[in-house]
Amino acid sequence: MSTVQPLESGSRYDIRVGISPDAPDEDKLKDEVGSFGYCHSYETSSRYDGPGLRIVLFLSGCLLRCTYCHNPDTWHLKDGTYVSADHVLKRIGDFAPALRDVGGGLTISGGEVMVQLAFARRILSGAKAMGLHTAIETSGFLGARADDAFLSEVDLVLLDIKSSDPDTYRRVTGRDIAPTLRFAERLAAMSKPVWVRFTLVPGSTDDPANVEGIAKFVAPMKNVEWVEVQPFHQMGSFKWKAMDLEYQHHDTPSPTRELVSRVIGQFRDAGCNAR
Ligand code: SF4
Repeated sequence: MSTVQPLESGSRYDIRVGISPDAPDEDKLKDEVGSFGYCHSYETSSRYDGPGLRIVLFLSGCLLRCTYCHNPDTWHLKDGTYVSADHVLKRIGDFAPALRDVGGGLTISGGEVMVQLAFARRILSGAKAMGLHTAIETSGFLGARADDAFLSEVDLVLLDIKSSDPDTYRRVTGRDIAPTLRFAERLAAMSKPVWVRFTLVPGSTDDPANVEGIAKFVAPMKNVEWVEVQPFHQMGSFKWKAMDLEYQHHDTPSPTRELVSRVIGQFRDAGCNAR
């Protein structure tokens, strides 16, 4: 049984490991109540994770293993802090008036938000009750878990589509692309606002055909408000070393301005709002 602790604010680039050694494996968690959960940290003033100023809560637990992940210390529940949903909501409540004033809100990221679906739902619901705009960032791999009650608490989905080519997707994430595409289609069918995010990794995801495949898939979806191209960077690489994980991207550069322009152009040419 994990010990309940207070949640520290901080940065997604702080490394946090081994905080709850008795936690279940992330693929074995069964929790339909959501009163407690495992969190990495929260940031109080992000301008990059949804509209306006955001408080961003990083949940622990992810079933993907992206080769370029910036936060491998969010993969396992055992690395997170075990906290009560009430405690997290109290922290969010401290910022709620300021966030409401500037049209901001709460974004739950990770890790993968749907590993701890009931916990996330409880927090999203509490944030909505405070009058906050709510967003989740997800790979969509566990999208089948998201029932309508969960999605009703979410105003915006930041959907990471990591590649369109199935082989590339498997190579960079270790998983199948199909669940993500099915989740995207479901969100489109229910007109749920979505910002698609694509991490541009030179030598891994930058193939023009790979980009084109995402662009063609997304362009007809009227619910997709933005496609955001996120350039790969090395800010999380120190975590791989500290956690003794094999990192494939020591020598991978950030994409050049020309490459970013080419990829944004591909999305725009297909009819997407891209930036
Ligand atoms: S989905 Fe996100 S948290 Fe999970 S491995 Fe990929 S980049 Fe990391």
